[in-house]
Amino acid sequence: MATDQNQFDVFVIGSGIGGYVAAIRAAQLGGRIGIVEKQYIGGTCLNVGCIPSKALLHIAQTYAQFAELGKLGIKVETPPKFDMSVAVAFKDKVVKQLTGGVAQLLKANGVTLFEGTATAKSPTQVAIALKDGTTREITTRKLILANGSVVIRPPFPGLDGRNVIFSDDAMNMPKVPDSLVCIGGGVIAVELACMFHALGTKVTIVEMLPSIIANEDEEVRKALTRSLTKRGIQINTGATVQSIEDAGNLKRVTASTASGPQTFDGEYVLVAVGRKANPTGLDGLVSAGLAMDRGRVVANERMETNLPGVYAIGDLVGKTWLAHVAETEGEVAAENALGHDAKMDYTVVPRPIFTFPEIASVGLTEAQARERSQNVRAEKFPWVANGKALASDETEGFTKVILGEYGELLGAAIFGPDATNLITEFSLAMRAELTADEVIATIHPHPTYSEALREATLAAEHRPIHIFMRTAAAANR
Ligand SMILES: Cc1cc2nc3c(=O)[nH]c(=O)nc-3n(C[C@H](O)[C@H](O)[C@H](O)COP(=O)(O)OP(=O)(O)OC[C@H]3O[C@@H](n4cnc5c(N)ncnc54)[C@H](O)[C@@H]3O)c2cc1C
Repeated sequence: MATDQNQFDVFVIGSGIGGYVAAIRAAQLGGRIGIVEKQYIGGTCLNVGCIPSKALLHIAQTYAQFAELGKLGIKVETPPKFDMSVAVAFKDKVVKQLTGGVAQLLKANGVTLFEGTATAKSPTQVAIALKDGTTREITTRKLILANGSVVIRPPFPGLDGRNVIFSDDAMNMPKVPDSLVCIGGGVIAVELACMFHALGTKVTIVEMLPSIIANEDEEVRKALTRSLTKRGIQINTGATVQSIEDAGNLKRVTASTASGPQTFDGEYVLVAVGRKANPTGLDGLVSAGLAMDRGRVVANERMETNLPGVYAIGDLVGKTWLAHVAETEGEVAAENALGHDAKMDYTVVPRPIFTFPEIASVGLTEAQARERSQNVRAEKFPWVANGKALASDETEGFTKVILGEYGELLGAAIFGPDATNLITEFSLAMRAELTADEVIATIHPHPTYSEALREATLAAEHRPIHIFMRTAAAANR
């Protein structure tokens, strides 16, 4: 075990959700562990990503619900007023509590935290330019790279103008925009579009691909598109943005479409076209031969790079761009760095999308499953047939289950209430290689949203109870 204060057994660059989890897991396994952070403890997820966006989404959804209360017999005499500064202060409080908690956990686990910018000189040497102006050279037996990601700045003109914002800025708005053109229709874009729309902003989405959330199941994509459009969010797909300019007091986004150039005006423009790996400070390793692929560090299932003793995790590796995957990769890297034998398995990764209603899926989409096999059964169970959803006035959407030839769960998708929590049942079932029979044989409490998961599984087996299926009787005779 390393004893000198500048010598470590495992050293982690970046304290995002991947990095801090790796450091804590390494500390649990024993050894001298260090971590360095140049900007904010907790990284993107805790400071400008998952957590602050969910705090603001919660506020936006609560605010929007007031308009619906009349039909439940709750009369709100004066329309509610929204104060962005109070909402941002609430979000800041949440972020502070969580990031403070992470700092305390690192300390309690005996992890040495350096606040400064790291430059990896070799697999065993890291130079740190500390925030107090001094420098420190450390040596380490094993190095975990967890540098994360940064927003993509697309190459069209106008990105630096006034009222052009990125997702980081959306967490600290001075006011609710009157109107907003959202460039991009991916996960972050649709979540933020829902948030602003719920607060009263007129939102227009401009997406280059033929669909929003292009990687999701086709029926889910279509259902979300219908839902957002019905609520008044304008969605333009197949539109490739060429420029952002000023148009009087507004901003004007010009895009090329199949029918020629089209313009979209709004008070603000949100650029949300994705994120890219951030390998800054790793030039020394790249010179030493660190394998990279399209700007990302290449790591195997043990999270090892091609340089002995060097591991890479999270958005820097960019396999899924999801926080919970970064965490798990962090645990795997830490365990391997300290002599254990751990592997990542990416077959069962839940994909949550915090729109209104929520979306969550796991495993294959129906199209992916059908590409692999002829014997696929996929069925949906609508929320309108679930008692709890009816009682809670949350009847939009469905649960979809995709089964293989032997009743094995190949994938599932939920579009509806609490989808991001509910998906864990299917994730666990898939991870444990359960079949439809075992999901069906599991008694689900009544009345709950979880019953819809069992009913969707019954539907895929052509024997649902709470919806009528013409094929059901024949299939089970
Ligand atoms: C708006 C938004 C919403 C999101 N919502 C979700 C969600 O709901 N669910 C979900 O699963 N994912 C979500 N994500 C994605 C999630 O935030 C990322 O997948 C996750 O943060 C990746 O973690 P990481 O540890 O790999 O990297 P990061 O969180 O990016 O952390 C990397 C850290 O390394 C530091 N660093 C980099 N280089 C150096 C250096 N040379 N020296 C010292 N420090 C350095 C950075 O400052 C940073 O703090 C969201 C992202 C955004 C932007």
